[in-house]
Amino acid sequence: MTPRPAPSRPSFEEFMETHWKSLPKKSGFTTQQVEEIFTGLLKEMGVTWNSIKVGVRRAKVQAEVLFDHKKNLVLNYDDNYFNTLTEVEIRATLSHECCHVATLPDSTILAPSGDSPQAMFIEIYDEYLVHKEFARRFGGTLTFDAFRGIKNKDFQNYDRIVTMANAGMMNVTNALYTILNDAIYFPLTGDSAFADWCRAKNLPDLNQFLAWIIEDFGFIEGLKLTRMQTMELVPTEAALSAAVNYYHLLGDDRTYGPELFTSTANIMEEMVAKRTSTPLIDVWRKRLWAHRVQFRCPRQSDSQLRWNVAVKQSKTNRHEMIKATPLWLPSR
Ligand SMILES: [Zn+2]
Repeated sequence: MTPRPAPSRPSFEEFMETHWKSLPKKSGFTTQQVEEIFTGLLKEMGVTWNSIKVGVRRAKVQAEVLFDHKKNLVLNYDDNYFNTLTEVEIRATLSHECCHVATLPDSTILAPSGDSPQAMFIEIYDEYLVHKEFARRFGGTLTFDAFRGIKNKDFQNYDRIVTMANAGMMNVTNALYTILNDAIYFPLTGDSAFADWCRAKNLPDLNQFLAWIIEDFGFIEGLKLTRMQTMELVPTEAALSAAVNYYHLLGDDRTYGPELFTSTANIMEEMVAKRTSTPLIDVWRKRLWAHRVQFRCPRQSDSQLRWNVAVKQSKTNRHEMIKATPLWLPSR
């Protein structure tokens, strides 16, 4: 008896290709044409560059632009995905990528690895900056409306991500950060779609969490730090935010209960405070305090509450923040 060959499973790339090809085809640009559209948009926006390379990268990205400080650009996109978009939608997607080049000095991220939580959180901060720039440049135009249309299609993905995270098929931090990376667009452009979705899915704390992140990103942006200093501070914000019960944010109250903050939130904040100094620490302590007072958290002892109350509001001290040891990053 000859052994039967193992049934072959489609690769993720094949799976995505089948998925995109099952959708109506709305365009069919060649790589050369995509490059022409991209460079045309850069010119229109007055963004200069040194060299440009456009390539197809299926199933990994929908579109991304990588560049060094000399503005040698590499645009990668999934051609199967692009074929599901109209020309206007492709132009809107590429306009967003142009805003990355216009906003950031380079696309390098200082983190232990590209898919580490720190790197993912820095990417969320970058999206925050880029969406603001996009709204500034394109607000009220057809491009802006087309991009909104694309973003509104993301909600199906959010549903899928939440389901996968709650089923233990996806790392919860990755799931949360993936949603935030996309969803940060909505409140920044005054669009209530994400808040509405959170309400419909009974995930109000997820919306609250995003509002906190945006508030803190606004503070970080206001410090006008260098890129390097920003990449040191943003992971600190990520570490502070980890005092929140990420499982609960995504609707899983079985794993760590229904509380917004983890039971070890104080300890985590203290650990951050030992390593670095930033007013964001007080901001997060106050959020924790306000929450625990409001809900009379039974896990919180009186002494712990006093510890929180005793925290005095410190003034922004940029100098101190800059020389502080970065959390999670190797000491320089
Ligand atoms: Zn982007």
